[in-house]
Amino acid sequence: MNPADIEKVCARLRREGEAAGYHLNSDEAFVRDLVEGLLTNEERYGYRACPCRLASGVREDDLDIVCPCDYRDPDLNDFGACYCALYVSDEILNGTRELESIPDRRPPGGPGAEPTAPEPAAAPAGVLAHPVWRCRVCGYLCAREEPPGVCPICKAKKERFEKFM
Ligand code: SF4
Repeated sequence: MNPADIEKVCARLRREGEAAGYHLNSDEAFVRDLVEGLLTNEERYGYRACPCRLASGVREDDLDIVCPCDYRDPDLNDFGACYCALYVSDEILNGTRELESIPDRRPPGGPGAEPTAPEPAAAPAGVLAHPVWRCRVCGYLCAREEPPGVCPICKAKKERFEKFM
């Protein structure tokens, strides 16, 4: 893989992450390795499956582990880092918290198993002019006919949205 491509993606992830309030790990070599894994998965499967998990190769079954995965934010809250430690919290970044081993939140049953997110609330019939869409990665909500192509907050793609109400 071309090192310049890896650097470019690292720089973009860092820039977009910081703009959205996320930090990449300060270990640049480690970040480069993870990004190389993401790009390898993109070449192999056509999408950036998490480099620390086994992807099925079926996009629909792996949507929950397309980076940034559905589990990033809960893991940042609870452990200060995502499962791969590509993304880290303020505390990890400034050294006031140690990185620890993170259990995988992905439901057992392998690739394609449904995440254990609570079911979206049922909408009261006839109240809303447009459906409300929720980004499964960061929780961003928007009311419109279709979900946005890219989440304006965390940059997750359209297929990571679910109908919220
Ligand atoms: S955000 Fe999720 S998919 Fe991306 S590197 Fe971290 S654990 Fe893997």
